[in-house]
Amino acid sequence: MINCKICGSTVPDSEAVCLTCGTPAGTPNVRSADRPEELQALEERYRAAYETARDGNYLSILEEFDKALKQTHAVINVDVEFLHFFTRNARNLYTTYERAVEGQMRKPALLEFDQKRRAVGGGLFGSYAREISYAALSLDGSGPQSYGSYAMKLRDIAIRNRATVLENNSYDFVQKNDLKPGKNPPLGYVASWDNRHKLAVAKLGEFLTPTTTVDDFPKLLLSSAGSRATDEFIEVLIYGTFDFNAIESVKGSSTIGSRDDRDLLRMVKQHLSRAGKEWIEG
Ligand SMILES: [Zn+2]
Repeated sequence: MINCKICGSTVPDSEAVCLTCGTPAGTPNVRSADRPEELQALEERYRAAYETARDGNYLSILEEFDKALKQTHAVINVDVEFLHFFTRNARNLYTTYERAVEGQMRKPALLEFDQKRRAVGGGLFGSYAREISYAALSLDGSGPQSYGSYAMKLRDIAIRNRATVLENNSYDFVQKNDLKPGKNPPLGYVASWDNRHKLAVAKLGEFLTPTTTVDDFPKLLLSSAGSRATDEFIEVLIYGTFDFNAIESVKGSSTIGSRDDRDLLRMVKQHLSRAGKEWIEG
């Protein structure tokens, strides 16, 4: 726990502001990723990836990969109905699952999935799980298609002070590490936004070879064959909500879906164009 810079009170790990005087304390996910023990464990994994690359004779491509990863961004895949809702009115906000259910904006998922979702979020973030929006780390603006056909790319400035990255998507991360109540996640598997390249190098460095090229990087970082079970990516955890102005561009195909979908998409493109946001066909 940290102490408030203004009044000296202890700020709980789950809070973004001091509960005595309201002074911002940084978001809980970023504070957690920036703990000295996390930073040290991440640094060790990052250095180990460099050692392995030196031994395996692919150091120069790892350096290229590392450089590219500093230019990654967060994408959220959505369906066309959501895209239409979100882009048509600047007052609309992106809402987390927990917030939407609490506010009766949507029905809960089937109980089995609702339970899993809350267990994963609660296990990793406790009571601030309701504040976390989930995105994927991407090099080419494409995201996991299993979450929707359209990838919204977020502006760096909209998230860099409140986003962290996690080794896998949180479902997989909890399962892989057999995280149960009382068991802490392993150290070195999360990073602040400025350290996201280190996490990606630590995770993926070993998959590079002397013949890997720059063109291979996007799919190495994020592979999506259309099923959530086989999707593999680094998850971006964004604390708090955001509006349409947090979007830089949207990527997707204009030729898929029903006639109604394509009508909605035509309107979406108008909304994007009016707001000065780019539509990327792909
Ligand atoms: Zn205070």
